[in-house]
Amino acid sequence: MTIQRILIVSGTHGNEINPVWAVKQFNRKENSLYNGIEYEYIIGNPAAYEKGCRYIDVDLNRSFKESENFGKHKNGFYETNRANYLVDEFGIDGSKPCQIAIDLHTTTANMGTSIVMYGRRSKDFCLAALLQNKFGLPIYLHEKDKAQTGFLVEAWPCGLVIEIGPVAQNFYDQNIINRFSLIISSLREEIDKLKNNLIELPKELVVHVHQGSIDYPRNEKGDIDSLIHPERINQDWKMIKKGDPLFLDSQGIIHKYERDQLIWPVFIGEVAYKEKKIAMSYTKKEVICSKKQWVQEFESF
Ligand SMILES: [Zn+2]
Repeated sequence: MTIQRILIVSGTHGNEINPVWAVKQFNRKENSLYNGIEYEYIIGNPAAYEKGCRYIDVDLNRSFKESENFGKHKNGFYETNRANYLVDEFGIDGSKPCQIAIDLHTTTANMGTSIVMYGRRSKDFCLAALLQNKFGLPIYLHEKDKAQTGFLVEAWPCGLVIEIGPVAQNFYDQNIINRFSLIISSLREEIDKLKNNLIELPKELVVHVHQGSIDYPRNEKGDIDSLIHPERINQDWKMIKKGDPLFLDSQGIIHKYERDQLIWPVFIGEVAYKEKKIAMSYTKKEVICSKKQWVQEFESF
């Protein structure tokens, strides 16, 4: 395996400050060169981080679009230019090429520590399986969502998002910071083992596959007219069935889940997703058997 450089990104959303703190602390204590692999620690969106906002013009984590324009397109948006810069600098063909990107995020939803992966890439499965095996972390497999594209890690041949919550935006929480530090050091250890062919994949991994997202019920003006139902709030990763409550509107009416399919909701009430008209996302559980190919693909870098 020829992994030489790994990109660790924090502050892709400028108001998610705990990973930035964790990375700074980690970088101060630990060598950026670890068993022959160079770690690049960068702030994804420094301008938004300075201002304490999610982004300046558009969401950076939706700005890595796979289009023929990507890399050349200049639309004047800060984040579009920033995405181009990050790929030019740290992309696989960049001046400091990184083979793997790890993007650290926080959520206001009660998700705990989780892994988000985009699509079904073998190398991503391999890293996700190692982390799930070590910590029992849930995996949210985001795929086939036309409304949400252009995620940072998709611009690298291998990459995962680590998402930890609940924590408010712009609010420091040492427990959340500690969890990020633990994940970063464990990732370095697992990747080192992978490099030295010392890993054994678990037989299978459990993923929560994205099925769609739903918006809050709104009034005729288009304003949100409901709260997440008290029985649903903070119940991320917990299965729901037909008839279970989702929202409680201003008239006191309960809006229920009406489909027959069993569903596991995530990102319940995530503050940043209000503007995207998402009150929660639906997932279904899937068990995936590990493949030797997942490890073998690391040799192709
Ligand atoms: Zn984020």
